[in-house]
Amino acid sequence: MIFLDAAATTPVRREVIEAMFPFLTNQFGNPSSHHELGQLAAKALAGAREQCAAVLGCHAEELIFTSGGTEADNLALKGIALARRAANPARNRVVISAIEHPAIADSADYLSRVHGFVVELVPVGPDGVVDPAVFAAVLGGARAGSAGAGRDDGGTKVPGADVAIASVMYANNEVGTLQDIPVLAGIARSHGVPFHSDAVQAAGWLDLDVNRLGVDALSISGHKLGAPKGVGLLYVKGSVPLEPLIHGGGQEGGIRSGTENVAFAVALATALRLSEAGRAESAVRVAALRDGFIDSVLEQIPTASLTGHRSSRLPGVASFCFPGTSGESLLLELERQSIMCSSGSACAAGSDEPSAVLSAMGVERAVAQTALRFSFGADVAENDLVLAARELVAAVATVGKLGR
Ligand code: PLP
Repeated sequence: MIFLDAAATTPVRREVIEAMFPFLTNQFGNPSSHHELGQLAAKALAGAREQCAAVLGCHAEELIFTSGGTEADNLALKGIALARRAANPARNRVVISAIEHPAIADSADYLSRVHGFVVELVPVGPDGVVDPAVFAAVLGGARAGSAGAGRDDGGTKVPGADVAIASVMYANNEVGTLQDIPVLAGIARSHGVPFHSDAVQAAGWLDLDVNRLGVDALSISGHKLGAPKGVGLLYVKGSVPLEPLIHGGGQEGGIRSGTENVAFAVALATALRLSEAGRAESAVRVAALRDGFIDSVLEQIPTASLTGHRSSRLPGVASFCFPGTSGESLLLELERQSIMCSSGSACAAGSDEPSAVLSAMGVERAVAQTALRFSFGADVAENDLVLAARELVAAVATVGKLGR
């Protein structure tokens, strides 16, 4: 099998299994227990938090372990929006990009439907890039149809004063396009607006230092990095208020109640540390293989078009549309040859709706339904990509001829 769907998930690394094993077996304590077994677990949890903080360049207390990227995104968007509006009712706008993962897009929709926030989408260009000037205009309330500039406490109009939170993803999961997070975060800061970024796809490939990025909040998911599914991490800068979404025993600094999953926290910390150690080297190697794969596909399939930015994209993501075919039929053809890829995001798989990301990038509905994403892990082999390109050429010819 050739697995080219690493953006959907990755296998758990052996070192990660070994690191978490003791906390599933003999060191199974509850970190809230005062006896020795509990204290061993508490120490391991604190150590895991420290390791993650070292990669992100933040304080350990600024990190909250979650059940994954989805929960981290929910907590960031809802938690910050609700806390900031509670402190000042004028902060009633939520600004997100038009190509966010459903974990952010649907959280914003919830804030609008249930809590009456006004949600504004920052459009993207045809390559999926957020133009910083457009982002600034939306934050400042200058865009047509926006709610307008807010008022500060003294009653004067201050651009951005009515925005509770802004969120723009670091790297898109369907087309791999990257955003200039330091620039966007700087714009949000100049408007006095906390800035969150979903770094679920970026982790393992790009710099996650929150100071260099300038973000106030950042989400990560373990299973994209060689840790198990069901663990994630949210960084929230100490000065940013956050309303808990899960109430109970007050774990995770009172922000996320529930007995901590020590084994998975250790797993995530180990995976993050290991991937950070080899990150820069892997990114260069895999980006070169990705470019070779893209060139080969575009050369051999003249009707194919690349989706997303040509160069400012994740090292491990090559995504295309193949007009005149169907993404689902291509997937089946490739699977018959033991090649696993995806027609878009794993979450949208099986849905007939064209991708919201491609629609926001201006791709026509019929063309969007011919999308395929190939995503590579750090250990991808060049030979496998040569083989995959060859099988893809054959699959496009077969599916196109059959009119499927
Ligand atoms: N955000 C992005 C960009 C993703 O790609 C994903 C998962 O594919 C998520 C959030 C959700 O993460 P999880 O699967 O850990 O809930």
